[in-house]
Amino acid sequence: MINKKLSEIAALSGGRLSHEQYEDVMIHGVETDTRKLSGGTLFVPLSGERFDGLEFVGDALKQGASAAFWPESRELPAIEGALILVDDPLLALQRLAANYLEERNVRVVGITGSNGKTTTKDMVAGLLRAKYQVHKTSGNYNNHIGLPLTILQMPEQTDILVLEMGMSGRGEIELLAGIAKPEVAVITNIGDAHMLQLGSREEIARAKLEIVSGLQDHGLLVYNGDEPLIAQVLNEKATIQPADMKHYRFGFEPTNDDYATGIMLNARGTIFTTTSTEDGSYFIPLLGQHNVSNAMAAMAVARYYGVAEEDIRQQLRDLEVTGMRTEVVTGVTGLTIINDAYNASPTAVRAALQLFDQMSGFRQKAVVLGDMLELGPDEVNLHRSIGHEFREKKIDYLYTYGPLAAEIAAAASEHFLAGRVRAFDDKGQLASELCSILSPRDIVMVKGSRGMRLEEVVRSLRETA
Ligand code: ATP
Ligand code: MG
Repeated sequence: MINKKLSEIAALSGGRLSHEQYEDVMIHGVETDTRKLSGGTLFVPLSGERFDGLEFVGDALKQGASAAFWPESRELPAIEGALILVDDPLLALQRLAANYLEERNVRVVGITGSNGKTTTKDMVAGLLRAKYQVHKTSGNYNNHIGLPLTILQMPEQTDILVLEMGMSGRGEIELLAGIAKPEVAVITNIGDAHMLQLGSREEIARAKLEIVSGLQDHGLLVYNGDEPLIAQVLNEKATIQPADMKHYRFGFEPTNDDYATGIMLNARGTIFTTTSTEDGSYFIPLLGQHNVSNAMAAMAVARYYGVAEEDIRQQLRDLEVTGMRTEVVTGVTGLTIINDAYNASPTAVRAALQLFDQMSGFRQKAVVLGDMLELGPDEVNLHRSIGHEFREKKIDYLYTYGPLAAEIAAAASEHFLAGRVRAFDDKGQLASELCSILSPRDIVMVKGSRGMRLEEVVRSLRETA
């Protein structure tokens, strides 16, 4: 992590020390959360809707922080300790991270997209570890605060930094890419999450492509070539691109630089073949075509950095990804449960249903879906369209939870035998009724937005079925 004299920290963050006597104090580490402070850390007071970080500066210094940012427009507090006077603590944090990264000899991979960022980030880091010291975004720390903190937490010996970049509106990825200045940028896909804020899929594509504005000259853009909007937006004159940007397209269409075929699923993972290598068969311990797509993005990055083919194959087989995403668990009596209760948007649910449809070897298949949140004014139609996805799918039961998911059930009912689609407003009842129809040779997939807390259904199923 960052390890510098306070005077250097002040210079890198564009601020000045309140008292010169502190200039030689050593700072190791930066924190925004007073509960995580330890000696030597710099406390960055951030303010939200419900709290004012400045109120915590005094406590932070008492609890061991060695210094804190303080906005120069505010009167100096009557606090004992070192302050760095800055224009704005958040901007200063971002500036500190950007300037610190620029000083370090580290190569940066930035990953954005509507779905699959965290999975792809974990895959990229996993593959690169065969050859490099890698530091990556922990969990989902992908925003204007998490990204600078990730940079500042990077260990001394890092060769490559792998950063997830999230957004909910225009300008956010541009900000993150401007801080991180990646050498390689990845766009996993364009979906319909954040339709509410952006209005159209085209606008979503523009927002993701802001990542190229921070890409280094001669940098590489790895993107999903099956999504025509990416190429379309790249051709727009308004898109700022670095000199001599290289492109690499992955997907399932033969027009891509690398494309996957022969996808087969079992309960442990997915096997696939790609066209870019002679013996192009791979296994990932994750389910579904969408994860093959994420793996192909990661393989492109690994090849760019010269990771050997056999290492790529082995690292893919041994992947560890951040928890609660398409995880397969078994109930006490043997029921197979696919726990995908972490998030849901129409694109992600469609991908998950397609994956589930392809799975074979089970007696009956059931799906539990919860509301997809934050979809904007068209939310009812978006839910109904998911209901029609069940047309011609080999799925036996659909149980939903929540008022919007009930719209999925209503639209889906014509594609099921009578009585096999049910809408619930109580998770306990849903789980117990589902247990009564399922047996050990069956499989159930549970998927919904984080806020619907469908992991409670997964827990009941595990304990009884
Ligand atoms: P967040 O915006 O919450 O950070 P994320 O982009 O990091 O999400 P992941 O956490 O990797 O995405 O995956 C979340 C869900 O998205 C998965 O459980 C899966 O259902 C779906 N998903 C993952 N990859 C893809 C993909 N390439 N295309 C479509 N859906 C995907
Ligand atoms: Mg994520």
